[in-house]
Amino acid sequence: MRDELRPRIEAFRLRTGRPPGLGVVLVGEHPASEVYVRNKLRAASEVGLRADLERLPATAALADALALVERLNGSPAHDGILVQDPLPAGLGPGASQQVFDLIDPAKDVDGFTPVNAGRLLQNRATLPPCTPSGIIELLDRSGIPVAGRRAVVIGRSDIVGKPVALLLVQRDATVTLCHSKTANLPDVARQAEILVVAVGRPAFVTPDFVRPGATVVDVGINNVTDRALLERWFGDDHPRLRDFDRRGALLVGDVHPDVVEVAGALTPVPGGVGPLTIASLLRNTVRAAELRADR
Ligand code: NAD
Repeated sequence: MRDELRPRIEAFRLRTGRPPGLGVVLVGEHPASEVYVRNKLRAASEVGLRADLERLPATAALADALALVERLNGSPAHDGILVQDPLPAGLGPGASQQVFDLIDPAKDVDGFTPVNAGRLLQNRATLPPCTPSGIIELLDRSGIPVAGRRAVVIGRSDIVGKPVALLLVQRDATVTLCHSKTANLPDVARQAEILVVAVGRPAFVTPDFVRPGATVVDVGINNVTDRALLERWFGDDHPRLRDFDRRGALLVGDVHPDVVEVAGALTPVPGGVGPLTIASLLRNTVRAAELRADR
């Protein structure tokens, strides 16, 4: 996907005299957010985008965050704006929604604004949310057919579960959307030929959730610091435990490692949906730039 973007970025640069630009807003010092933002900025620079980090301290007021988004909305050099979630609780109740809602939909490369969420619902998204469209890309490029197949999505968040269910329906899958109140979840999940898991609980989906041969997409990213849990999931001499011993923590998906024995295909964590999410963000930034230049 990144290689496909390079010639488009070069063509845009020749046409407009500047590279497509991404502004990333980071408020406060959330450790995981620092890592996510660094990875996004590095990936953007590597393909030839302009990528600017706009930081505000954890003590910033809501007005500061709103003013920063307004400035990026008005900036001719920025085609995409990404506000890194979560914003500090200190901004006040409802602040996060206000900040996200202020992003110009034409620059909303995360696809989170009500306008872009509505376009997605109506099957005419120009800037689809990054993790869901990364998942579709991953299935397509792995040659996994979607049309006519039974898909089950576990998790109904606005950023992953709901939009990926919509995209799968648009690809003619028959989709069941499950959540924390779903009855008999393993039985429902076992009907899936494509199982997408976005729950945020490490090793939650065990082999009894998985129909033999199913494609399993693990969206979860969970930072686990308890070695005993890891030993239980991976066995006590798994190579990943050595990574844990070096770093004191390990990223684990929502899918239990034993699922590899049952699934026909399984995305790794880390290294599966995460990189596709970033590639989709880069593509949305290029799209936003092209669409703005055409206006
Ligand atoms: P969220 O917390 O907003 O939503 C979790 C969903 O899981 C909820 O809809 C809830 O109903 C459901 N759920 C919770 N407990 C459940 C249970 N016991 N049984 C069934 N369903 C249950 O989470 P999110 O933002 O969608 O993120 C989910 C996971 O994906 C997290 O680990 C997050 O870090 C990860 N994530 C990864 C990427 C990526 O790029 N790979 C992007 C976004 C999120």
